[in-house]
Amino acid sequence: MLGAHVSISGGLHNSISNGEKFGCSAIQIFVKNPNRWQSKSFTQEEIDRFCQAWTSSDQIKEVIVHDIHLTNLASPKPDILEKSRQHFQAQIDLVCQLGIKYLVKHLGSHTGAGEPAGLENLSQSLDFLLEATQQTDVMLLLETTAGQGANLGYVFEHIRQMIDDSKYPERLGVCFDTCHVFAAGYDLRTEDDYQRTFDRFDQVVGLDRLRAFHLNDAKSEFNSRVDRHEHIGQGNIGITPFQLLVNDPRFSAVPMIIETPQMDEMHGQNLQVLQELRR
Ligand SMILES: [Zn+2]
Ligand SMILES: [Zn+2]
Repeated sequence: MLGAHVSISGGLHNSISNGEKFGCSAIQIFVKNPNRWQSKSFTQEEIDRFCQAWTSSDQIKEVIVHDIHLTNLASPKPDILEKSRQHFQAQIDLVCQLGIKYLVKHLGSHTGAGEPAGLENLSQSLDFLLEATQQTDVMLLLETTAGQGANLGYVFEHIRQMIDDSKYPERLGVCFDTCHVFAAGYDLRTEDDYQRTFDRFDQVVGLDRLRAFHLNDAKSEFNSRVDRHEHIGQGNIGITPFQLLVNDPRFSAVPMIIETPQMDEMHGQNLQVLQELRR
């Protein structure tokens, strides 16, 4: 299930036609401005319009929402934590109204408080949110991160800990980002590396938790802990793991979303590269 992160500009419903234009069968969207705390809420009419557009599309099978960049559910600062939880809860409610199942989020940053404290805050935030939205079946997909700065989630063990510590583990899944994992020091470049990394993921987290991929090549170096995406096959990861991924029967039903640069000009081309790798 190949697709891309697409824009909702001009209305939520436009994401469906944007995805169709690129030949996607899955799309990812933001439902709030990712770089601003304040953004307008949607009317029931706008929500209905999106649902109608999706229902009448026979091309788009899955829609995933990505959390805004500002929330930090691991923050040691009570005001930021509170604000993040409120915004995140509003997003879960909206995702539910849109008939979407998956909301992707990064694990957040401990901002100097240390990893154990950050993971503890995050774990409490997740329980708070899952409890507050018990009436929905929205799943939170914890995204593997590059581990830039004080960011959590650059080792699979962080994700395992969140699942183990949760009162609602059945609502936690994982989004595996190829660029982030590579930058975090899990190699993917050869077939052996690929097998080793997914074996490791399976041991620590479990492949059944894997509900989405972000397919991005890396401008950043291996193990650099720097998050810079590159066009498929043109970065430091190279084409091999992408070929393995799109042909791996274990992942045939898992949405694979590109978040590569220059979406308007390049999404079509990056998706074509992936399509052509299919055997
Ligand atoms: Zn990603
Ligand atoms: Zn990234």
